[in-house]
Amino acid sequence: MRDFAKLPLFLKELRLSTINSLWEPFSKQAIEENWSHASYLSHLCEHEIQTRLQNKLKRNLKQAQLPAGKALSTFDFSHAPNLNKAKVQDLAENTTWVSNKENLLIFGPSGVGKTHLAAAIAYGMIERGIRVLFTSTTALIQKFQIARQQLCLPQTLAKLDHYQVLILDDIGYVRKDDAETHVLFELIAHRYESGSLIVTANQPFSEWDRIFCDTTMTVAAIDRLVHHAAIIEIVAESYRRSHSLQKI
Ligand code: ADP
Ligand code: MG
Repeated sequence: MRDFAKLPLFLKELRLSTINSLWEPFSKQAIEENWSHASYLSHLCEHEIQTRLQNKLKRNLKQAQLPAGKALSTFDFSHAPNLNKAKVQDLAENTTWVSNKENLLIFGPSGVGKTHLAAAIAYGMIERGIRVLFTSTTALIQKFQIARQQLCLPQTLAKLDHYQVLILDDIGYVRKDDAETHVLFELIAHRYESGSLIVTANQPFSEWDRIFCDTTMTVAAIDRLVHHAAIIEIVAESYRRSHSLQKI
């Protein structure tokens, strides 16, 4: 019996599936091109690592549930001239703010690209190995409500800890008479200095009293959000509206 007959089994046991599919064709190439043993092993390991990274990226991208097609490359900065493009690019390319558990708050009227920017910056983070979850804030509140009814709210909240960046899209659509907005406050308090939030809002802070149960809670939520945060305010016409007008 060949002394490497069990190799596929060993590789399977070690969960080295890429090496398992490549060791044979690579060994032919190694003989033809006169690779050293170390070089052959190094090539195989490199492919195993690359495939794992790509798979992790695909998994993280799927889990993130980002709205499709919202990249920085398709964002027209000339439509939002007050934006600091370099700052936005830095947020998308540099993970320091996530490592430092800082937040990103994006303000502006409807249709100016808040969700687009949030998703594009988050995409940049995912590409750099960060785990992200995109969620509309109202959908999250509904999830909390169902979780409370099913007596699993603590577990639902704990699951969010898995994500280093949590996007709360359109926080201003939440109303304090919705059940569980206090859970939204608890979430913000819990993530303070422990995980990053990207929050988008149509309304300035002065109108956030409509979201939380009382002024004390509103002030406490805003304090925690802004303490370590980058704030982007988009001053522009609605992109949707101006582009639909152009078509007419
Ligand atoms: P908001 O979240 O501020 O309401 P969206 O991000 O949903 O706005 O933007 C509305 C639509 O217009 C989306 O399809 C988005 O991709 C597009 N859009 C907005 N601003 C821009 C921009 N500056 N460049 C390219 N597309 C944009
Ligand atoms: Mg939006």
